[in-house]
Amino acid sequence: MDNEMTLSFVAISENESLARMAITSFVAQLDPTIDELSEFKTIVSEAVSNAIIHGYDEDGKGIVTVHAVRDGDLVSVAVKDNGKGIFDVKKAMEPLFTSKAEMERSGMGFTIMESFADNLQVESEPNVGTVITFSK
Ligand code: ATP
Ligand code: MG
Repeated sequence: MDNEMTLSFVAISENESLARMAITSFVAQLDPTIDELSEFKTIVSEAVSNAIIHGYDEDGKGIVTVHAVRDGDLVSVAVKDNGKGIFDVKKAMEPLFTSKAEMERSGMGFTIMESFADNLQVESEPNVGTVITFSK
């Protein structure tokens, strides 16, 4: 393992930019292309916004944690919340599925994350929380 970072913050949408900045500087050490950098930012941003909006309903109390590890030129990231969890992960990951259509979400978060990450995994338990892991 060459580097590691953990960032925890309360579930308010203002903190999405904090997570984006942290992953950007962490990944910048590998000299990525602009595209790679922006893909990392997008994946983390989607996962963090899901944790804040869906996991905690933006309660400003729950804690979201972003953990990143670098091994050579491979970066592995976990985005974790202890929120309400996902009852049907398979369904939640379908393109266009959203449980917050009234908030004008497009239901494309997971689809975007999967297209940019090498192996995205979703572990979730109702009333316990959700962890999204990927490497790139
Ligand atoms: P968009 O990301 O396009 O704004 P969205 O967030 O609804 O819309 P996805 O990111 O694909 O779409 O997520 C699909 C659904 O999975 C969400 O609507 C929500 O029901 C559920 N979900 C995703 N992440 C979490 C989470 N951390 N905790 C609880 N539910 C989640
Ligand atoms: Mg989303």
